[in-house]
Amino acid sequence: MTTLLGLSLAGRTVLFVGGGALAARRLHRFLAEDAVVRIIAPVLHPDVAELAAQHDLDCTRRAVRAGDLDDVWLVHTATGDPRVDSWVAGVCEQRRILCVNASDGSHGTVRLAAETRAGDSVVGVVSDSGVDPGRSVHVRDQIADALRAGRMSMRRHRPTGAGRVSLVGGGPGAADLMTVRGRMLLAEADVVIADRLGPTEVLDELPADVEIVDVGKRPGHHPVPQQAINALLVEHARAGRHVVRLKGGDPFVFGRGGEEVAACLAAGVAVDVVPGVSSALAVPQAAGIPVTHRGVAAAVHIVNGQADLSETTLAALADARTTTVILMGVAALPRLIDAAVRAGVPMDRPVAIVERGHTAHQRITRSTVGEVVADARAVDVHNPAVIVVGEVTQAGLLLAADVAAVAA
Ligand code: SAH
Repeated sequence: MTTLLGLSLAGRTVLFVGGGALAARRLHRFLAEDAVVRIIAPVLHPDVAELAAQHDLDCTRRAVRAGDLDDVWLVHTATGDPRVDSWVAGVCEQRRILCVNASDGSHGTVRLAAETRAGDSVVGVVSDSGVDPGRSVHVRDQIADALRAGRMSMRRHRPTGAGRVSLVGGGPGAADLMTVRGRMLLAEADVVIADRLGPTEVLDELPADVEIVDVGKRPGHHPVPQQAINALLVEHARAGRHVVRLKGGDPFVFGRGGEEVAACLAAGVAVDVVPGVSSALAVPQAAGIPVTHRGVAAAVHIVNGQADLSETTLAALADARTTTVILMGVAALPRLIDAAVRAGVPMDRPVAIVERGHTAHQRITRSTVGEVVADARAVDVHNPAVIVVGEVTQAGLLLAADVAAVAA
C-alpha cells in the first residue's frame, strides 16, 4: 500500500547515490524543488556533471559509505547495481531515511509520482501495488491534457486572502485559439469579466457557481464604462477572488488592457497578463492575407479607425510596401477613405474587409481604395471587422485555391 505525500524538499538534503543517465533525468525534479542535492558516484554521466556544475552541487566521486547518509532527508539510489542500491535502501530503512530505490524492484519507501502542475496544484499518480510507471505517466498525461484544456475546475475552495486579476487575451473568437495558459486561468477563476468579442463559448462551459459579468463592449456603445470595469476588477480582487478579465484578441492591442493593469497596480492588486492572438494579424490571416509577404509588404501599421488619421497612418497608406490594418473602422470607413484619397493614396490600392474572422460567419470583401465605400455599403459590412489596405490583399497573391480554402 502506498500513501501519496506532498513532501516539501526545499532546503532539505537529498542524496543521489549513483550518477548515471537515470540520475540525470531525476535530478531535475529535485533541483526544481530547490532541494539541496548531493551526489556520491565513482563516475558521472556527462549530463549529471553538467547539472552539477550548473547548480554547484556537492559531488563526491567514490563508492557510497554508510556515513554518507548522515543528515540526509531522502536518498535516491541510481547506481545501476541492484546490490549496492538495496544495501543503501536497507541502511535507509534502519535509519528511517526516505528512499527512492530505482533498481532492485523493492522501490524503497518512496515512489516518485508522475506529476503535473496547474496553478498552485500538484497532481501526482503512483501505483498502489503492482508498480507500472508507464501507466502512471499515461494517466498523468490525460489529466494534464484535461487541465490544459481548462476542462477541470481548479477554483480555490479556501481563498488565499489576497485576490488577484488575470487579464487573459482570448483571441479573435474561436475557443481553440485561446492559449493553454488562458484556459487554465479561466478554470481557476471565481469571477470572469468578459467582453462581447473573444471566445464567448468558453463561458458556457464554466461551472454554474463561477460569476460571469458581461461588460459587453461594442463600438459606440459601452454599457459599462472603462472606469467602472477597472473598479469592478479591483473590487472583486479585494474581496479575495481570482478575477479573470477575458478580452478579445490581445489585451494590449486596442483592448485598454494597459489601463486595467494600471488600475490594479494603483490599487495594490496583483495582476498578470496573458497574451492572445490579436485580430490585427489573425483576422487577415483567416482570409488568406499575410500581413507581410516577401517582396510585397515589409511592414505593418495597425491603427484604430475611430481616431483621425495621423500623418504616420497616411504615410503608411500611401506606401505600397506597407500593410495598414484598421481595427474598429467600419463606421468611419467613408471618412478614412476620404482622408486617404485626399492624401494621395492611389485609388487602385487593394483593400479587403474581413468580418467576424475565425468564426463560422467569416466574410471577406475585396475591393480598392476607390470602390471600397460603395462595396462595403452594397454588402452591408458589419462589426466586428478588420480593414486591410495594401498589396497583400490582392486576390490570388497566394495560390488562389489556398485562399479559397482558408476563407471557407
Ligand atoms: N484586443 C483586440 C482588439 C480590440 S478592438 C485584438 O487584439 O484583437 C476591437 C476590434 O477588433 C473590432 O472592432 C474589430 O476591428 C477587431 N476584431 C476583433 N475580433 C474580430 C474578429 N473576430 N473579426 C474581425 N474583426 C475583429
